[in-house]
Amino acid sequence: MPRDEPQESRPPAKNSTSRDRVLILGGTAEARDLAARLVAEGHAVTTSLAGRTQDPILPAGEVRIGGFGGAEGLAQYIVDEGYDRIIDATHPFARRISENAIKAAAITGIPLEQSVRPRWRKQPGDRWQAVRSLEEAAKALPPNATVFLALGRQYLDAFSTRPDCRFVIRMVDPPVSPLSMGDHVLVLGKPASDPAREADLFTAHGVTHLVCRNSGGPAGYAKLIAARHLGLPVIMLERD
Ligand code: NAP
Repeated sequence: MPRDEPQESRPPAKNSTSRDRVLILGGTAEARDLAARLVAEGHAVTTSLAGRTQDPILPAGEVRIGGFGGAEGLAQYIVDEGYDRIIDATHPFARRISENAIKAAAITGIPLEQSVRPRWRKQPGDRWQAVRSLEEAAKALPPNATVFLALGRQYLDAFSTRPDCRFVIRMVDPPVSPLSMGDHVLVLGKPASDPAREADLFTAHGVTHLVCRNSGGPAGYAKLIAARHLGLPVIMLERD
């Protein structure tokens, strides 16, 4: 495997040859791949999305959108719809839904499978500083840095403590309310898969530091290759 390629997680093992009713907790590329595979195998698949993005790429099979109302609501939904299997293929930083899935599986007795992406591993040339919290990430930035924040909307407020820094913020959809930080520019859209495009973006904005979460998977990895090639320091928020 080339050094620049992250390891990909394997989808959960198929443990049944019957035609199952499967609930996938989704919102990731892995969940879409899994839905496509299970639909092709003849299973009745429903993917659940939280509804965070305005125009999500829809997976194969049925789709439902919106929260369940906690673990109990999820458990009730599973019973009402008669699912045989639940697969948690949510983002590794989406912790609450994963906790709810574990509780709902315990309540209902329906088997839960988990598709966990391996985290990215530091490679030669990477200048990563691991941090455990957003507050620690904000403190780790040197004075007057120009910082690329590759984070979700709900992760930005911690950086309002750094008015000396300039922020370049990538988001899929425009924010619904003004951001709390002062000097910032928005880059709307998804990450590029080509490291050269990510490097061009960083260079165009004069980025000196990158802040991101250790999400794993191929979709967001190009920015880390770009940072490596440019010699940029990366403040990496690690998983618990
Ligand atoms: P979270 O904090 O774990 O979940 C918050 C609440 O959102 C949950 O309690 C649940 O509401 C609802 N929810 C989350 N995922 C859901 C799903 N797949 N289907 C139905 N309801 C869901 O999650 P988050 O970090 O806000 O992420 C939301 C979704 O975006 C996840 O599905 C995740 O896969 C996707 N995503 C997240 C990130 C990220 O950076 N966190 C990145 C890419 C994609 P109720 O309690 O009312 O059921």
